Amino acid sequence: MAFFCFLVDQTRKVRSFKPVAGSCSRCGGGASVANMRTSTRFCYVPFYWKSWRAIICTFCGAILKSYR
Ligand SMILES: [Zn+2]
Repeated sequence: MAFFCFLVDQTRKVRSFKPVAGSCSRCGGGASVANMRTSTRFCYVPFYWKSWRAIICTFCGAILKSYR
């Protein structure tokens, strides 16, 4: 029996964040500058990831601004 795995998924993790001045345009919650990590997995094996910084809302999780 052959088993084919086509599953590719991407997970986004916030590794650390600290509050900054500003508020969310969607919910009015507090904004934070966060170190994010996006990892792409194929068959549950991570094969690509990158770190990036973004300003996110700590309340609703919206990305307000991202730095590439
Ligand atoms: Zn928000």
